[in-house]
Amino acid sequence: MLSLDQAGIRAVIFDVDGTLYDHGALRRRMRSALLRHCLAKPSGFRTLLILKAFREMREALAEEEASEVAVEQYARPARRLGIPVETVRRTVETWMHEHPLAYLPTCRFDGIDRLFDGLRRSGRPIAVLSDYPSAAKLKALGLEADLHVSAVDPEIDRLKPNPKGLLHAVARLGLEPSQCLLVGDRDERDGECARRAGVPYLIKAKRQSDDGIRFGHFDRVTQWLCAERCDDLGVVG
Ligand SMILES: [Mg+2]
Repeated sequence: MLSLDQAGIRAVIFDVDGTLYDHGALRRRMRSALLRHCLAKPSGFRTLLILKAFREMREALAEEEASEVAVEQYARPARRLGIPVETVRRTVETWMHEHPLAYLPTCRFDGIDRLFDGLRRSGRPIAVLSDYPSAAKLKALGLEADLHVSAVDPEIDRLKPNPKGLLHAVARLGLEPSQCLLVGDRDERDGECARRAGVPYLIKAKRQSDDGIRFGHFDRVTQWLCAERCDDLGVVG
């Protein structure tokens, strides 16, 4: 991150899942909730199959850079499992969109609120670019963004690493790609998307890497981008 010119960064665009919160921690909590659901209701095991098929189909849609994402994400799992599209949609909305909201506050990464505050103080707009609609998740996380762009918005209709959504966000911010910074958690999705769009990027990881692309703690980014002192933030990595 030190090789980037932080003064030239005029806006920051965040991925949501796995970037603003610990995806592993959320998955563990959801796994327990799903297990309770299955034990209470034998038909609950069908929920597990639907969610597994949905996740696999979403990965395939991203790799193919397919269009019609909003429809195909439900239609493909429904075809594979031989069940109505509406059943897939309802299951996904309940277990992937609504249920996790209660757990999100405890899964939020430490320091993300200080980075958002620092960006606001430095006058930089904050955007989010997510594979799913993100307004409810941001609210649950206690964070506010100036711009929300989702891969399933009709004008985007492409999952990362296709750069359409990122370039759309850059245009909506009224900036050049080189003036924005994308912060994500998956190099093969967020990193690749940024490289194709010509947008500088950072990847949230367990710890900092020597190339400066991966960082371990958000305070490190705040210190670098918002010129705050490391000592004040208690930065560890
Ligand atoms: Mg992510």
